Amino acid sequence: MIVMKFGGTLMGSTKAIQHSASLVLRSTQHGEKVAVVPSAMSGVTDQLIKISASAEQGHIAFANDEISLIRQRHLNTAHELGASAESLTVQKLLELLDSLGQTIHGIYLLRELSARSRDLIVSFGERLSAPLMALALERMGVRAHDLTGGQAGLVTTDTFGNARPLPQAYERIPSRLSGLLDQGITPVVTGFIGETEKGVITTLGRGGSDYSATILGAALGADEVWTWKDVDGVMTTDPRMVPEAQNLEQLSYEEIMEMAYFGAKVLHPLAVTPLQERGIPLRVKSAADPDFPGTLVTAHPKGLKNGVKAVTAIRNAAIIDVGGAGMVGVPEVVSKIFDVLAGEAVNVIMISQSSSMANISLVVLRSDARRAFDALKSQFANSDWIKTFELWEDVAAVAVVGEGMRGTKGVAARLFTAVAAEGISLHMIAQGSSELNISFAIDETDAEKAVKAIHKAFSLERLEPSDE
Ligand code: ASP
Ligand code: MG
Repeated sequence: MIVMKFGGTLMGSTKAIQHSASLVLRSTQHGEKVAVVPSAMSGVTDQLIKISASAEQGHIAFANDEISLIRQRHLNTAHELGASAESLTVQKLLELLDSLGQTIHGIYLLRELSARSRDLIVSFGERLSAPLMALALERMGVRAHDLTGGQAGLVTTDTFGNARPLPQAYERIPSRLSGLLDQGITPVVTGFIGETEKGVITTLGRGGSDYSATILGAALGADEVWTWKDVDGVMTTDPRMVPEAQNLEQLSYEEIMEMAYFGAKVLHPLAVTPLQERGIPLRVKSAADPDFPGTLVTAHPKGLKNGVKAVTAIRNAAIIDVGGAGMVGVPEVVSKIFDVLAGEAVNVIMISQSSSMANISLVVLRSDARRAFDALKSQFANSDWIKTFELWEDVAAVAVVGEGMRGTKGVAARLFTAVAAEGISLHMIAQGSSELNISFAIDETDAEKAVKAIHKAFSLERLEPSDE
């Protein structure tokens, strides 16, 4: 049994959906059971976020225009996939589109948008795409049935925008889906969304379809979870930056998690966690080249002589620096800082603290930086703890990932020698306690130079399997 996830690009048009469905057919043809997890059509989640924000601000005409575009795109796709105007698929799409319009109108009247209503609104992306995938499969002779995450048993916490599966999901999912699978029907389960115990729609965070797929895979005891991509598996770095970038045949759960966290757009950072506990492999597969094995993610991947496996850069970062002698010996300052940032929903990418403890530097996404900075200032400006506040924008965070770094001497020296040879100065350095990443912050303008130099220093254009 395999769970297959298709991202927004692979759901982005009639052609793309048909191709994705044909990838499912390749497996079901051989008697394999498959559960399918589609994302929203490309761009739709962003559009829905914009629509909800504009309704809240009273720009209803703009919101309605955008809804019309979403409506046309989905109805055209259904039509091109062969659905008649009277078909159940079209009826279902029309009902969903009506309900989206009403919800947006409600937001407009109330001028109020909670995290809970935002989850409801963005859920329409996947609720509209899943019936299209089911239709495409049926048209190819694969019996299919579409369900929402909640209908499929994915119960979550009520942390809207960032929900987590509850333990009972792992029992409910098989009880909801086994019947279909046993009858040879392919369940098509909306990615990204779940439901609280009370039946309120939640989302698992941006890119959450990966997470939906791995939760399903774990719950169903799948043999493997495949996330189909429009690239060849996971690469040593972004091939647009370094054309010599190579495909990585194998990675560990921890490595891919570090890479996801540091901005390689491979996977939702928590996606491997359900698989890790059960030892279920994840495969990142190329939709354009389905025979290519892609990247296999397991607990014990084949090692590489290279030591380092990948280098990634988050370009749109910023550094916030806070300091003051009053911080020395006051451990609660750090937890207070994190409380303030959590309250603003800011993710901290890197943190480092000087050994005198009189200074803490944080790297955050630039889009969060100003908000985070202002919140810290207003919280601490009148405290005895923190006296100086500085904000540097135009920063990039570079991360180097690989299990071979663990316990290997000289990796850091080689890394920073390569960076220094380019005349790049470092603003801060952090090493994860897992010792499988080193990350550092530099000027954004140096990002590409740094990535290229590191890729070369560790010979990532030529991967060599280790001897054991
Ligand atoms: N559609 C959602 C997003 O754009 C979930 C996903 O694509 O994984 O974030
Ligand atoms: Mg996605």
